[in-house]
Amino acid sequence: MPDRAIAMFVGHGSPRDSLTETNYSRAWRAIADRMPRPRAILVISAHWECKGVLITRADRPRTIHDFYRFPQAFYDIQYPAPGDPDLAFAIERRLAAFRARADLDSWGLDHGSWTVLRWMYPDADIPVLQLSLDVRRTTEEHHAIGKALAGLRDEGVMVLGSGNIVHNLRIDRPRGDEIFPWAQRFDDLVVDRVLSADDHGLIRYKALPDAAMAVPESEHYLPLLDVLGARDPAERALVFNRRVQSSVSMTCYAFGLADGAADIASSAALSR
Ligand code: ZN
Repeated sequence: MPDRAIAMFVGHGSPRDSLTETNYSRAWRAIADRMPRPRAILVISAHWECKGVLITRADRPRTIHDFYRFPQAFYDIQYPAPGDPDLAFAIERRLAAFRARADLDSWGLDHGSWTVLRWMYPDADIPVLQLSLDVRRTTEEHHAIGKALAGLRDEGVMVLGSGNIVHNLRIDRPRGDEIFPWAQRFDDLVVDRVLSADDHGLIRYKALPDAAMAVPESEHYLPLLDVLGARDPAERALVFNRRVQSSVSMTCYAFGLADGAADIASSAALSR
């Protein structure tokens, strides 16, 4: 039997920060170095929204550069990880209640995947699949989809949600390091709720204070609900990269790391 893979939510931030190593990407790498190598990775990215629950099933998913007017160097980045069509069909069956469909070519690996994975696994030698965010689903259903994915972890498949808990690009962001107080408050509140396994409160996030400013659109928040669904309630959360940059939070959560990995949290690169 393979080692049980972790479930993790990462704050991916701006693709502009993906060209060179940062404290955030160093932390992602440190996690990858401290856990068993997964057999495959299923990514739920904020950047694949569609009508329907789709799973990429290409042998070679293409690298998608889903941003505009960036320097050429960003478009030159490739993340040539293989896919895993058999696994895609297995996930389709697992999510039959949600009418999931393994899909050949409407998507590939968007920057929610590769800006993180190119630092975690630079050799791109682990199969990567993406699961879409079905825009017609409720927050309860996103959590339920995560629950239906939990068993994949026992087969060595890592469940990786990629978004940002606080993500408001509508407002004029201040120059420098100023942090919006509402952004910090909301990020702190979500940390408290995750640590106390209050999935109910997190599913109903719109009722939380500051949610309207912190989560004006749901897509960067929803992957957290999938990850929480895939979490065993007994699993402790490791919180790292806990930082708010003006109106975006980079906070990450990992579930299922071995106890010895707790030392990661104390390393300077990973904690506040
Ligand atoms: Zn994003």
